[in-house]
Amino acid sequence: MKKKAIEKIPYLRVKENQQKDVKYIGVTAVKIVGHEKHLFLEVYRNHKGSKDTPAVRIVLTKKDFGTYWPEREEWTRQKVKTDRYYGGLIWAERSDTWQAEKENVLQSTEDLERIKKFCKATVYNESHWWQYIYRHEEDIVITDRRNREHRKYMRRQEELADRMAHTEELPEKKILDRANSVYFQNEHYLYYKKHGSWAKIACSKCGGVTDARWRNGISYESQFQRWTEEPREGNYGTCPICGARGKYQCQGKVRGAHSRSIYLFLGQKYKENGMVMRYVEVEKRWMLGFICGDQGPEMYNASEELSGIEIARAYFEPGKKTKIDYHKHDPYTGKDFWDDCNLNGLANITINAGQIMRETYEEMKETMFRYSALQEYAESMRKINPIDYLERYSQTPQIEILVKMGLTDVVEKLVKCYYGLIADQNARRPDQFLGIRKERVKQLIRNKGDIQLLKVMKMEKRHGQNWTDEQIKHLAETDLSGVQVEMATGYMTLQKLLNRIERYAGCRYGTGCGHASERIRNTATTYADYLSMRLSLGYDLNNTVYQQPRDLGAAHTRMVLETNQEEMDQHLKQAAEKYPEIRRAYRGLRNKYFYEDDSYLIRPARSAEEIVMEGRVLHHCVGGGTYLSKHNTGKTYILMLRYRAEPDVPYITVEIDAMNPRIIQWYGNKDGKPDQENMQAWLDAWLMKLKAGTLTVYENDGYESQEVRIRVPAAVSA
Ligand SMILES: [Zn+2]
Repeated sequence: MKKKAIEKIPYLRVKENQQKDVKYIGVTAVKIVGHEKHLFLEVYRNHKGSKDTPAVRIVLTKKDFGTYWPEREEWTRQKVKTDRYYGGLIWAERSDTWQAEKENVLQSTEDLERIKKFCKATVYNESHWWQYIYRHEEDIVITDRRNREHRKYMRRQEELADRMAHTEELPEKKILDRANSVYFQNEHYLYYKKHGSWAKIACSKCGGVTDARWRNGISYESQFQRWTEEPREGNYGTCPICGARGKYQCQGKVRGAHSRSIYLFLGQKYKENGMVMRYVEVEKRWMLGFICGDQGPEMYNASEELSGIEIARAYFEPGKKTKIDYHKHDPYTGKDFWDDCNLNGLANITINAGQIMRETYEEMKETMFRYSALQEYAESMRKINPIDYLERYSQTPQIEILVKMGLTDVVEKLVKCYYGLIADQNARRPDQFLGIRKERVKQLIRNKGDIQLLKVMKMEKRHGQNWTDEQIKHLAETDLSGVQVEMATGYMTLQKLLNRIERYAGCRYGTGCGHASERIRNTATTYADYLSMRLSLGYDLNNTVYQQPRDLGAAHTRMVLETNQEEMDQHLKQAAEKYPEIRRAYRGLRNKYFYEDDSYLIRPARSAEEIVMEGRVLHHCVGGGTYLSKHNTGKTYILMLRYRAEPDVPYITVEIDAMNPRIIQWYGNKDGKPDQENMQAWLDAWLMKLKAGTLTVYENDGYESQEVRIRVPAAVSA
């Protein structure tokens, strides 16, 4: 859009419209700017003073549009209306008016014709003339977006093609031979079936099937017969025909074919000093064929097959993001192709750890990874994923030093992206990098970078401590957190803490026995837990009796109970403070609602605490804020129905309407209705008496003279 040239073109101006409803008037013109036809639409306010300058000027060409705001002297790329169906027009003050067609008109029918001719869109209601402009603009926006996406796709395809063109051919034969000799150890199978002193043997290497004698015969002929060792499942033997070594497998256990797969990585130099890591799966299949013989199936040939497929390629270049291409199969065309993205969901192609072919290291010498220590790392691990390793090395080159020092465990964690291990990403020295004391590095190396040990060393540094090698080792075994250690060492030395854990556990540190370490970890947690509960209950931990309970397990349980009791008391106290009216109103309510017969009694709740406890003991929700608050404000009342013989044991809880005597609900344990028919009848009878005013009131029932404090064992609430 030639904005400067367009701004120089004078405004079209408009005639005033006498109709009152009209708020905006559009006027159009087609003008040539830079040899291209432009449609101008100017919208004026229908005021006397607004005939010279439009509120907005919209300019369209075949492939572009722009919106100019004269008052702000500003260009925007807003469409003529917002993208909803009844979207508002951009110049209108009110955006969603029913009157749009009356308020926004064109100056003449020529204007409409001009718009229709230029925009060529289909619009059902011509009085909504702005729809033509909107459709035209929308087409432009969609086409632009589509072109952008297409350009992006084309660029990615070009890059993919470029990578493929710069990738050397895969030395397939070499890979298969190597896989067979090194990773499958040239494994062959000798399938056998014994009959008497004879065995029928099928060799997967040469495919031959032969009969051989495995037990010495006594006849003269037997010394000329083919002789073999006795075939035994899983043992190795020699094929009597071709002499290959193979593993015996009983014919009866073989079902057609079986296979094994391995994953290999081959790194090659890519472009100037980049590298491509190629991920290949090699599969070996052993097959045994059968034909029908006189006595059931007979082996007739055996074979083996080696096949490989390249699954993915990871490209590394200095300063660029790692690009991974995937080999895919199109089931419709039946063709294989390379793509620059993985498959979605369950079909996702994963790259497993595998073996790295030694040619990789030779190629690596001339690439950005010549100092990556990949070889040293691969040698210290059984299988690795070199793509992950090299990616991490690109981000964190310190990995090289860590590998060379033998801190394998630390590197393994880093490769798996546990970056929380790093104290200072920019540090060059390993102690600063990991956040441990300089003196600790040697011990960490001796233990191959053990993560548990590293955790404790970091703790030591963080707390400004100076522990012994042995203390570090033992503390690592306990698996205690920094917070736990800090809490405990506030009251005892680290050595004392360690000794006590050892004594309570009843087994020693450093035995290397799984059971003992588990026991130590468990005991350490229990002890730390015990100490912190004691502490938060307000006990003085300087007291050695509290520090060293005779029976740790029992003491721990006691603390758990006490902690819960504490919480519950806290809760009761809060309820009492929040709903004081319940206690205050009790006496009066009791006179009104109390009733008892030979079996049961009913009375209002004495206090908020009692309602909370009732809810806890019976496991229903009456102890919640709603009921408490309704009782407190006198809207509804909570009554306790109990056995007369056990007046302190919660049985049934009743909610009644305060104004108009009726039972809103009643429940027993766990929202159940115990003895339902009987209790409902009892309650109905009570309600009748209440309404009739015939409840007998006992002035002193014996429960009131003493304040009954309910203490329920803490375990109930736990
Ligand atoms: Zn053979």
